[in-house]
Amino acid sequence: MYLLYFHCINIQNYSNALLPYIPFFYVIWSDDLLSASEIDVVKTAIGEDDSLSNLDKEQLCSWLNKNHPPKNEEIKNWQQLITNSGAKLVESETYPLEAFSRKVSDFYFESHRVNENLRTIELNLGIQPNHYNHLFHVEVIHQAYSNQYSGSAIDAILNAPHLTIINQFREFLKNLIFKWDIHRDKELARKLVLKQVQLLASDGWGALAYPNAYGGKQDIESYASIFEHLMFVDGSLAIKFGVQFGLFGGSIQNLGSTYHHDNYLKDTGETKLLGCFAMTETGHGSNVRGIKTTATYIHETRSLVIHTPGKSDNKEYIGNALDSKMASVFTQLIVKGKNKGVHAVLVPLRNEKHETFKGITIEDNGYKLGLNGVDNGKIWFNQVKVPVENLLDKYGQIDRNGNYQSEIENPNKRFFTMLGTLVGGRICVAKGALAGAKIALTISIKHALKRRQFNDSIKVQEDLLMDYPTHQLRLIPKVASSYVYHAVLQRAMHDYANSTEDKRKIETQVAGLKSIITWFATDTIQECREACGGKGYLLENRIADLKNDTDIFTTFEGDNTVLLQLAAKGVLSDFKSELNSGGFVSVLKLIGGRFADKLATINPAYSNKVDKAHLYNPKFHLHALDFRFRRLTDSAAMRIRNYIKKGIPSYQAFLKTQTHLLELGRGYSEVLAMKWYYEFVSSQEEGPYKSLLYKIGALHGLSIIRKDATWYLEQGYLGSTKSKAIRQRVERLSTELRPHINSLVNGYGIPEHLVSAPISN
Ligand SMILES: Cc1cc2nc3c(=O)[nH]c(=O)nc-3n(C[C@H](O)[C@H](O)[C@H](O)COP(=O)(O)OP(=O)(O)OC[C@H]3O[C@@H](n4cnc5c(N)ncnc54)[C@H](O)[C@@H]3O)c2cc1C
Repeated sequence: MYLLYFHCINIQNYSNALLPYIPFFYVIWSDDLLSASEIDVVKTAIGEDDSLSNLDKEQLCSWLNKNHPPKNEEIKNWQQLITNSGAKLVESETYPLEAFSRKVSDFYFESHRVNENLRTIELNLGIQPNHYNHLFHVEVIHQAYSNQYSGSAIDAILNAPHLTIINQFREFLKNLIFKWDIHRDKELARKLVLKQVQLLASDGWGALAYPNAYGGKQDIESYASIFEHLMFVDGSLAIKFGVQFGLFGGSIQNLGSTYHHDNYLKDTGETKLLGCFAMTETGHGSNVRGIKTTATYIHETRSLVIHTPGKSDNKEYIGNALDSKMASVFTQLIVKGKNKGVHAVLVPLRNEKHETFKGITIEDNGYKLGLNGVDNGKIWFNQVKVPVENLLDKYGQIDRNGNYQSEIENPNKRFFTMLGTLVGGRICVAKGALAGAKIALTISIKHALKRRQFNDSIKVQEDLLMDYPTHQLRLIPKVASSYVYHAVLQRAMHDYANSTEDKRKIETQVAGLKSIITWFATDTIQECREACGGKGYLLENRIADLKNDTDIFTTFEGDNTVLLQLAAKGVLSDFKSELNSGGFVSVLKLIGGRFADKLATINPAYSNKVDKAHLYNPKFHLHALDFRFRRLTDSAAMRIRNYIKKGIPSYQAFLKTQTHLLELGRGYSEVLAMKWYYEFVSSQEEGPYKSLLYKIGALHGLSIIRKDATWYLEQGYLGSTKSKAIRQRVERLSTELRPHINSLVNGYGIPEHLVSAPISN
């Protein structure tokens, strides 16, 4: 046999001991991403391999020299040697490449023992069969995915500490009323969604966030997870549920006093009282402070008169408007002729027979792009009188003498304090959008693990979509980001539930996070649709509905572009107060910080560091994202200051820097998300799952840095070699996570019966 191959492949050049290294070197040189730390791993393993002679070691080490790589002829020779061995690559082996190398070597010489040094290389380089199976012209015993990680173990990590209640809820969702189906008639869809909401209420799920005295468990964190699960059932259901219990009930709970809680909260939780949250007007959406509906106090009758003054001052898009008996109406409160700013008032809309009260007009908004199971409508008020007790008066009261009182004197602060109490809804919207992305990723990935298209002419079977590097790069970084954002929103809800009265900080954080996460969801669902080809376009496969239903999440509960500016303003006011309170010392600190950044950017050793250990290190991701955030903050503050110094009014200065501020809001949100995610991972028990979560973090972090590579290159933070290495690492990490992708989507914990798309089953 030795002689048989002598002429064509020069087998005599390789010793018995060296031969098992050939497939490894072949793989290594086919992938030109061998970093210094990886070369070290291979060199150490070679050094410790007693079966190799000194000559073998010298030969192998010479093949590791990046400046003098093996000649193409040599590499071709290796490939031939491997092919001619006829060895099979079995992907399910624990160390597939080491086992394959043994089979190749056994063909030419006597049988080989297990080589622990090669196993060390395989493990430390993270080489996976899907990195190299296409490189060999041999038979591959393929596995669509690995079961090394369990989806339910991941679910337990992601959903702790609420898993018990979430699992109870998953059981509850087995009720056939929650089975997904195509609904094109809005009236039928609305009827069904209302029934579903009533059923949820009857089992106590709607009131979960309310105090025990009103049928709840005071548990807004579990409520948010329940909300997420309703998105898995249907977008309209989640939104109708959110409007009834979160927005209408939430406004009573957070803006009202004991009187309102005692009178309305229990009935709201049980859907005996259906309500809506009427803030937006046709003329005023993002600018809530500009709304025109008035609530004028009449002392003689101790009443408030609610009125729509002008043509486009009616409430619009109000969810639950057609089913509601009452609305929480946001108005300008006028007391003794003075405007006290925006306040919410409970206004009865309909009687027991569901007829609208005098002075109230309600119209259906009609068919929408999505969410057609939700009854959105317009509402007009014509001099509608309600008792003064209907004012949700936690932050502003009208006393017996008809005087307005508030503990918060500054109207600006009062307005933001009131809106700040509603931040929970914004977190739920982000969670809902993310849930839409999760189910779309699950459907498209399960499809890609079965669907085959094209093949190499020598193969019988076509390749799985999931095995195409482009498919991996399109979907796997998005799965990584969905993990990061999941942990981040759990943290946001935890902080919100446990924060003190001043919610300003969490409000700034959530304004930014809601924006980047809902945009992420929109992009992801589109990518999933395309990744499923024509099947993704069919209604039965659900992605079309997910796309249409979640589209508006970037607009409601605060338009993203407007929210990012809010986040940036929050950052800049912190920045300003830091400078104001710290005086000269803070300025020095700031300049010191800028200097440190300069050092980092001009140090070529840092801006061109491409080692795997460095690129995968959370410290690098956090440093890069924080650098961007600080640079954007610093430059925005300086630009605004310079405009103001020239006498330009602050509003104009703000407009001149508006696009910059948007980037600042995004930069702020991205570093915050990365920081919270790594805090979550570092709190996990040591073990394989923790390592997996770190790898997911690295993929997300590098993808985000990669997205802004132009900016980093402009700033000199990244050198061209590092920028290229980041791109290659994103691809490589995607490939490394490919075998675990089924476990990763199972880790979302979406009950199987809710992943109802035919292409995913
Ligand atoms: C299906 C649906 C359900 C809804 N449910 C409810 C509900 O139950 N209750 C309720 O009160 N409201 C509800 N809304 C209203 C929703 O909250 C508003 O649509 C949202 O706040 C945006 O307001 P707008 O539509 O007036 O848009 P606008 O404020 O007019 O914004 C339009 C565009 O202008 C941009 N823009 C606005 N201001 C600025 C600025 N300062 N700088 C830069 N760009 C700017 C925005 O980014 C946006 O792209 C719902 C809306 C929809 C569509």
